[in-house]
Amino acid sequence: MNELRAQAQQLDKQDTLSHKKEAFDLPKGLIYLDGNSLGPLTHAAKKRAVDVVNEQWGNSLIASWNSHKWIELPMIIGNKIAPLIGATANTVVCCDSISVNLFKLLSAALMAQKSAYSDSQKSATAKSLPKRAVILSQNDNFPTDLYMAQGLSMLLGEQECNLLSVDSDAIESTLLERGQEIAVLMLTHVNFRNGDIHDMQRLTKLAHAQGVLVLWDLAHSAGVLPIDLQACDVDYAVGCTYKYLNGGPGAPAFAYVAPKHITTLQQPLSGWMGHKQPFAFAHDYESSETVERLLAGTPSIISMSILDAALDVFEDINMTELRDKSIALNAYFGECVAALVTEEDFVLACKPNAQHRGSQISYQHPHAYAICQALIDRQVVADFRAPNILRLGFSPLFLSFENVFEAASILQQVMQERSYMQAKYSVKQAVT
Ligand SMILES: *Cc1c(COP(=O)(O)O)cnc(C)c1O
Repeated sequence: MNELRAQAQQLDKQDTLSHKKEAFDLPKGLIYLDGNSLGPLTHAAKKRAVDVVNEQWGNSLIASWNSHKWIELPMIIGNKIAPLIGATANTVVCCDSISVNLFKLLSAALMAQKSAYSDSQKSATAKSLPKRAVILSQNDNFPTDLYMAQGLSMLLGEQECNLLSVDSDAIESTLLERGQEIAVLMLTHVNFRNGDIHDMQRLTKLAHAQGVLVLWDLAHSAGVLPIDLQACDVDYAVGCTYKYLNGGPGAPAFAYVAPKHITTLQQPLSGWMGHKQPFAFAHDYESSETVERLLAGTPSIISMSILDAALDVFEDINMTELRDKSIALNAYFGECVAALVTEEDFVLACKPNAQHRGSQISYQHPHAYAICQALIDRQVVADFRAPNILRLGFSPLFLSFENVFEAASILQQVMQERSYMQAKYSVKQAVT
């Protein structure tokens, strides 16, 4: 135990990112291992929240659309996120939620495949292309990703769109065997339950070899893993800003379109903010020439402003350095738990090597929910994912190794004393 603590102190001394925690406004004494679900408040975000309400909205009112660049926020933020995910300037836009952006980009992919097919039918010389209507995904993808594909299929009909989801280890073989039917491969880079990481480069390449477009969901990797969309030749991506990017509850998501697709991309939520000239108030829709064609309605300015300020903490961050700390924290926590928690039912539910998972660790236990509640009661915030997963996330910007040691020893206490058996810890809340 003492040795483990000494090790934490040593690791903290070597931590080149330790100064970053000063940017965060975390409650004293709280060990927050849930930055992967809702990133904490930064001082900059708090200041901006007050400013955008009091000064920008309160005093400048409607003039702020120009004077405080409200109208440019979707692109300003997109351009702040771009370097974190290996995207070039003006390929990322901030808007809506992941769910809504998935709907737009899945539609765009299906329409792109459809027009390639009909062009090939019309041309006498071109080789006829296969008709593609399948969205290929993974069974344990985040549910909303699957639900959005199901909704699109309901709207368009099975002939035009249908979801095929397979187990993770069958993705490659399905691409090879049924590639000609598939329009788009939709995957989440880091699995939300067990942190498994897909090989983005390899899968994108395999899909492309079959004529399949590729859409990646970066919800659990943006802001914590190095990502290179450009080098991987990814077609489309979506991501979350309220997790590792600390944008605040319900902060708008982002969407990426590869430069080569931007001017041909069509999407059905053709709202006025995606129009070439929203303030011309023309009768017919004509899409913007830029990635702003993904916009639909008026941006949520208060939320976006807070996100804009929160992103500044990443300004001087090297993503490889960040990932190194994330792996070290994650691995060290795993070692502490392996040494301290001996209960047989408490089982690791992810890859044992921290290099092979996102910035999280998962354990399986029949009382995972109650254990999670008992931890929260003791100022260690983790979360529970049904049916039996205790999930702990490691945001490298504000966590120290000593925090992580403390969390592991509190977990040891909860398990040893079986305090999770108290009835109050089994009362289910709406959000877990
Ligand atoms: C968190 C998360 C989402 C959230 O979607 P919203 O529509 O923004 O609420 C989507 N996909 C994945 C993989 C997630 O982890």
